[in-house]
Amino acid sequence: MTRFAHQREEAELNLDDARELLEQRRAELRERRTRIERHTRHRDEPLPPDFAEQAVELENGETLVALDREVNAELKEIERALKRLEDGTFGECTKCGETISEGRLTALPYASLCIDCANATDAAR
Ligand SMILES: [Zn+2]
Repeated sequence: MTRFAHQREEAELNLDDARELLEQRRAELRERRTRIERHTRHRDEPLPPDFAEQAVELENGETLVALDREVNAELKEIERALKRLEDGTFGECTKCGETISEGRLTALPYASLCIDCANATDAAR
């Protein structure tokens, strides 16, 4: 356990738990993406004869594109977090190097910034 010796014992996040959370979420998102892709493809098929239904189809199509973008962005974050787990840098802020609080990582396992840096980034937007 010398690898994480610089971290205080009680502040240490269970990395196995974090990995499990991330992999679970990744599986969920991949499934969702598959469903979205199936829906999107379905849009290219001839539209249903019913006009009302047609309008719904088009609306859903636009929502699906936004959703797809969201899912892909989150998947990317999760991949990065899993990479950090492998590198042994998981739980460290990628900006300032501080340890990200366990509470924040539990709520957002793929958080790459500590709360201070995240707030600073939000404020800069
Ligand atoms: Zn930071």
